[in-house]
Formats: sequence, C-alpha cells, structure tokens
Amino acid sequence: MKQIVNYEESLKVFKDYISNNISDNSINELIQAFQHIQDLELEMFKIENSNDINDIFLMPPDKIRELANDLKKNNQYITALKVAKEYAKLKKEEDKQNFNFQNFQKDIIDNLSIIIKNFETFYNNFISSDNKNIVYSIIDKFGVRACPYCNLNYIDVIKTERKNVLRPALDHFYPKSKYPFFALSFFNLVPTCYECNSSLKRTKDEKELLNPFERDFDELANFTIYLSGEGQLNHVLSDTSSFDIKINSRESLNRDIVNNQNECFALDIRYEYRKEEASEIFSKCILDTTEFRKEIKKAFPTISTKYIEKLIYGNSLSCDDINKRPLAKMTCDLVNFYKTNYK
Ligand SMILES: [Zn+2]
Repeated sequence: MKQIVNYEESLKVFKDYISNNISDNSINELIQAFQHIQDLELEMFKIENSNDINDIFLMPPDKIRELANDLKKNNQYITALKVAKEYAKLKKEEDKQNFNFQNFQKDIIDNLSIIIKNFETFYNNFISSDNKNIVYSIIDKFGVRACPYCNLNYIDVIKTERKNVLRPALDHFYPKSKYPFFALSFFNLVPTCYECNSSLKRTKDEKELLNPFERDFDELANFTIYLSGEGQLNHVLSDTSSFDIKINSRESLNRDIVNNQNECFALDIRYEYRKEEASEIFSKCILDTTEFRKEIKKAFPTISTKYIEKLIYGNSLSCDDINKRPLAKMTCDLVNFYKTNYK
C-alpha cells in the first residue's frame, strides 16, 4: 500500500543476474524476431539492438505502463498474440501445417512465438531452484514485510543457514500471458501475498491498477469508518455490526483507480473481517491521552514517542512503515480519523 522506494540493492543483484545469465544467442534471436515483426508491420515496440532488449529487463515502471497501455488498445497485437499462443500449443508438425492463420502471416506468428518462448525461458530460469539464492536475496533486500497490495498478510522471506524456506509470490504486474516481453522486467515483478497474486489479481489487467513501484496507494486512499443507523462511537467499541470499514479515495480525481484497486484485491470485503481489530484501535485511541503518555514516559524516561505509539497501537503510526507490518495502513488511517472527528 506504500510505494516501494527502497529497491537499489535488489536492482543491483538483478542487474548482475541479467548480465551473467542471458545468453548472446537468445538476445540475437530476439533482435531478429522483433525486427521481422517490424518489417511485417505488426505494430509493437521497436527493437533495434541488444541495448533495447536489455532495456526491457530494467525498464522503469512508467515506461512499462505506457507501452502496455499502447498494446492493450492494439487489436492487431492482441489477435496476433492469441494466434501465436494457439499455434505454439500444437505439438505435431502436421497440425502446425494445417493451422489456420486467419489474416495473419505465418512469419509474424513464428517470430512472435520466438519472443514468447525466449522471455518465458528467461523467467523460468530466473525462478528455478538453481537461482533460489538470487531471487530470495532480491526480494529480501526490498525490506517489504507486508503485502504492498493489501497490507493484510506478511510476505516474509524465510531462510535458515542451509535452506531457503519460504518467499512471497512475484506478481507480474502486467501478466506475462499478455505481455510476454515483460516476463522478467524488474519493475514488473511485485512481491505480494499469495491471496492477492493467485486468488484475486491473477491475469487481470483490463482496468488500470497501481504498480507499487510507481505510485503510492497510501497517498491516494484512506480507510474510514461508517457508523450505521444511530451509531455512536461507543458502539464501535462493543458491537462490530454497528459500523463498516471502507477504503475511500482522498480526492475525486483518483476515485477510479482506488475503486479498481478495491475491486481487484477485494479490499472492502477482506477488511470487513478485520472489524475486531478496528474496534481495538478505537479503544486504544481513547486510552491514548497526554496523561497516559506522561505516565509511560515517567516509567521509561528514555523511551521515544515513536516507541510509545508502537506500545499503544501495536503498530507504527508513521506512514513510511506501512509496508513493514500488516494492518499498519488501517491503524494509521483510523487513528487519524479518530483524531479528526473525536478529539
Ligand atoms: Zn496481499
């Protein structure tokens, strides 16, 4: 929910991986395939040399978005990709010969298949067991401990001395089935919880979503409490059916993207199950008085304000820490909501 800004160290490991593992042969094969497609006038993006291919691996998130949006509108590309995938599925040469290419030239499909195959192989090699240490290290160095899409689940990188035990899913922000050339683009690989990646987002890309490497959801939206009926604040403390938690855009300008994000990751629905926690946050807000903080300070004179807040709320109230712990975003927002409305 917070933009991932701390990626320099991970990027360094990734760059080393790319320069050591992508063969010149595949690069040359790709340049030729892209160029054939250009010659045959299928509109995709222009590739002229190996630098252009290497740029794809490190392409900044805004540039990926720009290209993906262009391709999303390009029917010619979408149809060619569909035909190429159907064609690639055929195992027997005989079937391939009888394949109906519709309006597309066989050359385009052949070359598009080469592109799909190469990038798929790049990605599969990257996540293969041989490169586990590298992938674990890249994800670990982000320092992101809570899912950047939902802020509900931990996304731990768990290692022992001898073994890599567990890591978060890597979500292809732009699905590799639709944008095969972004299969191994650093800023297209978002570490997320399995619920967001496998159960909710999957290959959706019809509506604009927010890439955590590019933009900050926290700046666009906040959690708010709605009291139902004659609801009063004290009901929130005792009766979770007396209120709803909703995610709202801070400005009408961003309403669409916030709604898309809410819909895709089922945020309102999933946070309904966190009402107990929301109610507890309000109890803590009531407890959190100047006198109470003074008492803590008296008992522990060297304690910082930040730590006092952590003690009271069980979470940081600094928005910079949102990606470090689940529910940090809801905690920050509800404490602010309380301060604005009830203090
Ligand atoms: Zn998630």
